[in-house]
Amino acid sequence: MRILITGGAGFLGSHLCDRLIEQGHEVICLDNFFTGRKRNVSHLLGNPNFELVRHDVIDPFKAEVDQIYNLACPASPVHYQYNAIKTIKTSVQGAINCLGLAKRTKARVFQASTSEVYGDPDPSIHPQPESYWGNVNPIGIRSCYDEGKRCAETLFMDYHRQNGVDIRIVRIFNTYGPRMCPDDGRVVSNFIVQALQGKDITVYGEGQQTRSFCYCDDLINGFLKLMNQDELTGPVNIGNPGEFTIYELAEKVIALTGSKSKIIHEPLPSDDPKQRQPDITVAREKLGWEPTVCLDEGLKPTIEYFDKLLSEER
Ligand code: NAD
Ligand code: UDP
Repeated sequence: MRILITGGAGFLGSHLCDRLIEQGHEVICLDNFFTGRKRNVSHLLGNPNFELVRHDVIDPFKAEVDQIYNLACPASPVHYQYNAIKTIKTSVQGAINCLGLAKRTKARVFQASTSEVYGDPDPSIHPQPESYWGNVNPIGIRSCYDEGKRCAETLFMDYHRQNGVDIRIVRIFNTYGPRMCPDDGRVVSNFIVQALQGKDITVYGEGQQTRSFCYCDDLINGFLKLMNQDELTGPVNIGNPGEFTIYELAEKVIALTGSKSKIIHEPLPSDDPKQRQPDITVAREKLGWEPTVCLDEGLKPTIEYFDKLLSEER
């Protein structure tokens, strides 16, 4: 197949490019390089099945394709809050452009949505199933991302109902691994970089908020199963249900890096979700998918990646 990946030079997009190229597909990787890097896909540049295009998804694009993965959107709070209006435009206008292209070409189109559609979940809804409508602040500092992604889901469902577009929606829970951006402010990259540089580890608040961390290879397996499954149209959670407090993560990173860094506390940003864990019953039952890499195991290659990156920069 010829497959378009928007945001293909980013962390997850570049792993998806690798997998689809390995499977023998033609890949068009489209990116504006806001948070993505050419180095994430530079090893693919000589491959005749791979094409890299600089383009912003806010503008329409034309191509004859069989499948579209829409991943373009800054994903870390630091990056998506940098230009909040641009973030909403990327989610909403990017979705409209992908859906318009899918409608014309009859391509199946996949939306990278997020656990952020659940916002700061009601503590009684834990873990979060796909049927939960969420608890999202529409006017806070995270809203540009959360509401942009919610609106994109609405557009996907409406194009499906109104125009019969063949859609897939994944709700991704916190994912980590090699090729994360070292300065994106996300907790895994921050803690590893701080530990490797011997700097203080910055836990926001008391560190009792939780997240469930999925290794990137597991997530990409889930993407491929969802995209190539014939029946599903509704959103599907993909994530690792192993839930950790942020303080526990800091301790793990210190232990695995052998760092002498100290843990310090900084103010908790507003609207920071208190807990998050995916209910993956749908993925298990309908896709036969579940994660295989536990946090300790996945942190090792991630630490190795950052260690190499930082030593190249020194
Ligand atoms: P990333 O920032 O590494 O990748 C996003 C890519 O999109 C980058 O290459 C960036 O340059 C590109 N991009 C941004 N705006 C664009 C625009 N207007 N036009 C074209 N390209 C644009 O982040 P990631 O972690 O790889 O996330 C990929 C997708 O998965 C995003 O849509 C994100 O919202 C979603 N997601 C990721 C996670 C996670 O934990 N990694 C969790 C939930 C959802
Ligand atoms: N966090 C932290 N220290 C950091 C970066 C993040 O304690 O240096 C916390 C953050 O407040 C949140 C959690 O880690 O509670 C996950 O943050 P991240 O930005 O990775 O993802 P998200 O909040 O979008 O899930």
